[in-house]
Amino acid sequence: MSTSQTKPSTVDVVVVGAGFSGLYLIHKLRTMGMSFRVFEAGSGVGGTWYWNRYPGARCDVESMQYSYSWDPELEQEWRWSETFAPQPEILKYANHVADRHNLRQHIEFNTRVEAADFDEASNRWTVTTSNGESISARFCVMATGCLSSPRAPEIEGADSFKGPTYHTGAWPHEGVDLSGKRIGVVGTGSSAIQAIPVIAEQAGHLTVFQRTPNYSIPARTTPMNDAYEREWKDNYAERRDIMRRTAAGNFYERAAISAQDVTPEERQQVFEERWAVGGTRFMTAFNDIGTNAESNEAAAEFVRGKIREIVKDPETAELLVAKDYPIGTKRICADSHYFEAYNRDNVRLVDINTNPIHRITPNGILAGDEEHAFDALIFATGFDAMTGTLLRIDIKGRDGQTLNDKWEAGPRTYLGLMTAGFPNMFMITGPGSPSVLSNMMISIEQHVDWVSDCLAHLQDSDIHAMEADLAAEGAWVEHANAVAHKTLHPSAASWYMGANIEGKPRVFMPYIGGVGTYRQKCDAIAANGYEGFVLNGQSPRVEAAAE
Ligand code: FAD
Ligand code: NAP
Repeated sequence: MSTSQTKPSTVDVVVVGAGFSGLYLIHKLRTMGMSFRVFEAGSGVGGTWYWNRYPGARCDVESMQYSYSWDPELEQEWRWSETFAPQPEILKYANHVADRHNLRQHIEFNTRVEAADFDEASNRWTVTTSNGESISARFCVMATGCLSSPRAPEIEGADSFKGPTYHTGAWPHEGVDLSGKRIGVVGTGSSAIQAIPVIAEQAGHLTVFQRTPNYSIPARTTPMNDAYEREWKDNYAERRDIMRRTAAGNFYERAAISAQDVTPEERQQVFEERWAVGGTRFMTAFNDIGTNAESNEAAAEFVRGKIREIVKDPETAELLVAKDYPIGTKRICADSHYFEAYNRDNVRLVDINTNPIHRITPNGILAGDEEHAFDALIFATGFDAMTGTLLRIDIKGRDGQTLNDKWEAGPRTYLGLMTAGFPNMFMITGPGSPSVLSNMMISIEQHVDWVSDCLAHLQDSDIHAMEADLAAEGAWVEHANAVAHKTLHPSAASWYMGANIEGKPRVFMPYIGGVGTYRQKCDAIAANGYEGFVLNGQSPRVEAAAE
C-alpha cells in the first residue's frame, strides 16, 4: 500500500473513491499522463462490492453484462461462475482488475476525503483528507458512488441492545456466524430480499420487520453455461455497443408493444414467460409498464398473484403483497427464493404499520405490544442515496458556497456531471444522470470516458476553469423533472425521490431519459465545444442540452 509521504501535494487531479468508477479513472488518467492522487475510505478496492458483504449479496444485472468493456482481453479471459454473480466474485473481479493493471499502487486506502475548497484566484481545489493532509488539485473527480452511505434509522434505545448490530451496507469482512441465533432484520428492500432466504437457512429464528412490501422477481441464477458464455464472448463488442444505446444499458429483449394492445390472456402469457425467465427484465415485458397506469397495474397484479401462490399462509402472503405504489417505481428486486423463505417455520414477518417499532431494548425490539428477543440485529435499511456521500464531504465552491447549501432543495446539476458554482469538480454517475436506473457499468464507463476526454481537452486548450452554466443547469434540471413526471416513478415514496430519509428534499434524482439518449446528448454537447459549460469564463450556447 502506498503512503502519502512519497506523494506530491500538488497534482492535476484528485479522485475520490476506488470502486469501479475510481479504478477505471486511474487507468484513464495514467494513460493520459496526468498527475493524480486517489483516496479511498475503505481498505480495498471494489466500492459497493467491498462494503456490501451481507449473505446472499449478488448482482441483479447478468454477469456477462456487469463487467468492464475497456479491457477486451480480460473480457475474454474472465469466467463468471453463475449467470448472476455473487458479491465475493465481483469483489474478486475488482481486485483482479486492480492487480492486472497495477492500479492499487495509486490508491491511498483507509483515507477519507473530508473537505474540498475551491480557490478562485488559482482555479484549484484544496482537498483535505482524514490524515490531515492538504492536496492542491486543478480538478476533483468524485467517484464516490450513489449507494455508499449506509443509513440506519434512529430508533430509541438503539445503544441499549446487548447483542451485535449490523448494517447490510457495512457488513463485517470476517463474516458473521448467524447459525442457530435469533435474528431480527429491519427492512425489505433489495438487500434484505437477497439476505433473508440465506439468513433464514442459517439462523435459529428470523423475524423480519417490514414497513413497505416490495415487488420481486425470481432471479433464477444458474451455473454459467459454456455455450451461453461463448456466445457472449464471440459477440461482446457488438453487444456492448447495443447496450450503450438502450434505455437501461442492458442486452435483452424489450417488448415494443403496449400491454393495452394485447388481450388479457396474451398479457398473462407474456408475464408468465418473463416470470419463467426471471430477473428484472420482467419490467420490459411491455413498453409501457413504467408509464401507463393500467399496464403497470396488470404487471403488479400478476406479481401479487405469484406471491399469493408461493406464500402458504394467506395472512403473511397478503402482508407481502405491495399494493400502494406502482411496480418498478421503487427499485424492482430480484430474489432467490425470497417469498419461499416465509414458508419456513423459523421465519416470521412483522408488519410495523400495525405493530410500530417503539424502541430497541437490551433484549431486542419492542414492536406493538410484543418484545421480540434477538441475539443479533440486522439493518437492511438502505442508503442516503445519490447525494448523501457527496454532502458528507465539506465541499465549498465559488464564493465559499457549500454544496449542502446549493442542494438544500435537492441536487441541481448539469447532466449529473457538474454543478454550477463548483468549477473543475466532476461527478461520476451524479444525480441528474441515468446512474442507478441503468446497468451501472455502462453508465460508469460513459461518464469516465466523457470526463477523461473533457480533461484532455481542457489541458490541450489551456483552459483552467470549467463549470456548468447556471442557465444550462436550470434547463437540464427542468428537463430531467419533466421526463420523470411522464413516468409513474415520482408517485412512490422511493429512495430515488429521497423519501427514505426524513427531511430530504423530494426530487426524482436520477435521469430517466435513458442511457442511449443521454449519451447522445453528452456527446453532442462535447462536440459543440462543451455547450452549456463555462470555459475560462466564456459561456458557449446552452440550447442543445434540454432539447
Ligand atoms: P462505489 O462502488 O460506491 O464506490 C465508491 C467508493 O468511494 C467507495 O469505496 C467509498 O468508500 C469511496 N468513498 C466515498 N466517499 C469517500 C470519501 N469522502 N473519501 C474517500 N473515499 C470515499 N448496480 C448495477 O448496475 N447492478 C447491480 O446488480 C447492482 N447491485 C448493487 C447491489 C448493492 C448491494 C448495492 C449497494 C449497489 C448495487 N449496484 C448495482 C450499484 C453499484 O453501486 C454500482 O454498480 C457500482 O458498483 C458503483 O461503483 P462506483 O465506483 O461508482 O461507486
Ligand atoms: P432500500 O431499497 O432503501 O431498502 C431499505 C428497506 O429498509 C426498505 O424496506 C425500507 O422501507 C426499510 N426501512 C428504511 N427505514 C426504515 C425504518 N425506519 N423502519 C423500518 N423500515 C425501514 O435499501 P437496500 O435494500 O439496501 O437497496 C438499496 C439499493 O441498492 C437498491 O434499490 C438497489 O439499487 C441496490 N441494491 C441492488 C441489489 C441487487 O439486487 N443487485 C441488492 C441490494 C441493493 P420503506 O420501503 O418503507 O422505506
